[in-house]
Amino acid sequence: MNESVGFVGLGIMGRGMARNLLRAGCALTVWNRTASRMDPLVAASAVAASSCAELATKSTVIFLCVSDTLDVEQVLFSDEGVATGVQPGALVIDCSTISPAATRDMSDRLAALGVEMLDAPISGGSEGAARGTLSIMVGGKASQFERALPYLRAVGQTVTHVGGHGAGQSVKLVNQILVVGTMLAVSEALIFAEAGGLDVAKALAAVEQGAAGSWMLSNRGTQAAKRDWRPGFTIDLQQKDLRLVLEAADQFGVPLPSTHLCFQLYRTLQARNLGHEGNHALLKALEHLSGITVGSRASSDP
Ligand code: NAP
Repeated sequence: MNESVGFVGLGIMGRGMARNLLRAGCALTVWNRTASRMDPLVAASAVAASSCAELATKSTVIFLCVSDTLDVEQVLFSDEGVATGVQPGALVIDCSTISPAATRDMSDRLAALGVEMLDAPISGGSEGAARGTLSIMVGGKASQFERALPYLRAVGQTVTHVGGHGAGQSVKLVNQILVVGTMLAVSEALIFAEAGGLDVAKALAAVEQGAAGSWMLSNRGTQAAKRDWRPGFTIDLQQKDLRLVLEAADQFGVPLPSTHLCFQLYRTLQARNLGHEGNHALLKALEHLSGITVGSRASSDP
């Protein structure tokens, strides 16, 4: 761990990851657009930079964890961006979830400056970021993956090299197809159980250890059945990821009917100003269509 590390983007995910890099003993420089978010890390011995460019002059490994594709482009290539200060030979590790195609373009632009890039999107929520237990899907050169591994292991538990530039982002989108498809099935199952007069909680408990069991069913299905809409992952961020999935699917020329349906259903929830709720609130879209509210019937005696 002898490289100087920079971290750009101290949001819900980035702040936990940066803290784990400090715990692992890294010399860490940080930058965040809203400067006050740097304070807790500076108090924990990180150094605050005044711009991404300044951070890049001090770092040979530079993590990014910002929102969307255009945000990564800005922190890399705007006037005060990483590219302005970066040293040849440095490595950029982008942990944001963004477009695979744009990732390949950006890695080419950095390569022209002699700078390496890995896409390393993450899964595991704010809890995973805080605990250092994230799953990380990495795209890029194998040699750079080996170089990054000690730093990635400081923030994640399952770190997998899945292919060349953009492959990490594509695997993250595979993850998102599975997440929303499962949530749609869970929502339909809850509506069906309610319409059939079943005790919904008992129905879930009866099936969750069988062949239909999944993390989404056990965690988010149970939460939806209790009408607890607090987010692990918001509808707005979910929609950003589904847009990336559908754009990539369009480029591949493949139909994704269920994912497309989920995108449209989540859009109805955004139109009702529910974008800040958790992605399991997909149930509310089906409730609206069916006129059934899960949890509205008293459970019948056995
Ligand atoms: P967040 O809490 O909203 O934080 C976003 C971060 O990006 C903030 O530091 C924000 O700065 C910065 N940012 C956004 N646009 C910027 C710009 N144009 N220039 C400079 N900085 C900018 O989001 P998050 O939950 O940490 O998510 C970060 C990434 O991880 C996203 O791509 C998300 O899809 C992905 N992810 C999230 C989760 C999750 O459960 N939350 C799980 C897996 C993956 P400010 O502080 O100034 O706003």
